[in-house]
Amino acid sequence: MQTKKTKVRHNFILFGMPGAGKTTHAGLLAANLPIQVIGLGRILRERASRPGITGLRIRRAMRTGDFVDDRIVEKVVSDVLDRVDPTKILLFDGYPRSLNQTYFLDSQLARRGQALPMMISLNITKREAIARLSGRRQCDACGRQFQLKDLKKKLNGNRTYSICPVCGGNLVTRLDDTPEAIKHRFEVMDLQRKILKHYYQKAGRFVEITASGSMKTNHNKLMKIIKGS
Ligand SMILES: [Zn+2]
Repeated sequence: MQTKKTKVRHNFILFGMPGAGKTTHAGLLAANLPIQVIGLGRILRERASRPGITGLRIRRAMRTGDFVDDRIVEKVVSDVLDRVDPTKILLFDGYPRSLNQTYFLDSQLARRGQALPMMISLNITKREAIARLSGRRQCDACGRQFQLKDLKKKLNGNRTYSICPVCGGNLVTRLDDTPEAIKHRFEVMDLQRKILKHYYQKAGRFVEITASGSMKTNHNKLMKIIKGS
């Protein structure tokens, strides 16, 4: 039986503009604290590779660039929540992104006796988002992401930056990482942020940090928030 001491007091949502470093931070936090990361994008990609009607629907949405239907997302989230480790803090990465998804997640967590999540918003400016994302390269074989400036450091600035230093695959710019596409995504996300902020702030479950500094500084800020909860 679970004692009061081990009961998780808070779960968390990492919300951030594209380029704010959500996924990297989620991984770092999970390496340091008893955290289970729930990255919806990764879970959907994994589900898309399975046979069956859900996989087919997700594949279709991804191929046409549409959002995956809310009902499919709900089914996937509900399945994931049925199988989480109850002693761990849940950290949602990239979900929820709308009020509907927020209501759904709250109701599903409440039904399972899980703590309602606190949203942590990683704030960066539009200029920073563009700088970070236009310098991002992704390996088309292993999927790892790199910053151009880190690659230059690693290679002493005298090589081409088109080869993945880990697996030798091709490094490419993601199609949605062009400055115009980034600007558009930033504006969409900024609107979402305002709507969600209003909801979570009213519920007393909102904190935000300026994520402009170094990775280490931001990591320490996040550790403080989660450990202090
Ligand atoms: Zn690679």
